Amino acid sequence: MAVLKIENVSKIFQGGTTAVDDLSLEVSDGELVCLLGPSGSGKSTLLRMVGGFERPTQGKIFIDEADITDQWPERRPTAMVFQSHALWSHMNVFKNVAFGLRLRGLPAAEIRQNVEGVLEMVGLAGYGKRMIHQLSGGQQQRVALARSLVLEPKILLLDEPFASLDQHLRERLREEVRDIQQRLKITTLFVTHGQDEALSMADRIVVMRDGRTEQIGRPDAVYRKPLTPFVAGFIGTMN
Ligand code: ADP
Ligand code: MG
Repeated sequence: MAVLKIENVSKIFQGGTTAVDDLSLEVSDGELVCLLGPSGSGKSTLLRMVGGFERPTQGKIFIDEADITDQWPERRPTAMVFQSHALWSHMNVFKNVAFGLRLRGLPAAEIRQNVEGVLEMVGLAGYGKRMIHQLSGGQQQRVALARSLVLEPKILLLDEPFASLDQHLRERLREEVRDIQQRLKITTLFVTHGQDEALSMADRIVVMRDGRTEQIGRPDAVYRKPLTPFVAGFIGTMN
């Protein structure tokens, strides 16, 4: 069953750039879908529209059949992890992760339990009192992930979350995210421009080009049977 439905969505920015062009996509419950494409192909814009940080010029977005096209980000059952962490560096890890739950008015004991649970899940048990600026880049992205997971979103949105990390760390975090995603069965949209990343973790890959879907399919199908020279070229290039 489709949890997320993107229906004929376009985004034309002021100045005339068409970032997303009449794009439709359905994502099933518990699926991890990678949006894969070169820089400028509209991946972030599409993700930001699902998260509510950008408004479509045209089209509609549904989550569980409800039209959320015009809903504020805070009201949506989504949570987003950005490429650069966007954490509060003057707060400790615990407070960063607890922030969203405080806004929701959860009792302190429940907040503590939930935050400690997700910190353990992302490999940061015992790090609650550390300040953000004392952490490595990889640890900061773990905190960003924990901050999203603690909200128990219906849909998790990840925009090149490990792009700034070295290859080894990126591969490790990718595996851990896939693990957590499968354990929680959380529907996930994962943006990347790295085909190795998409091929290794996705249930389905959406290859994007100029704001449109060039091919949608399972990793092995996209890899073995690229439908266009663009997909063949893009999947073929190692980076
Ligand atoms: P990607 O994430 O695939 O690199 P983006 O969604 O960031 O692509 O960008 C798609 C296109 O939209 C690019 O041409 C980019 O320059 C343009 N764009 C993105 N954000 C804005 C904005 N806020 N204002 C104007 N143009 C934008
Ligand atoms: Mg981007």
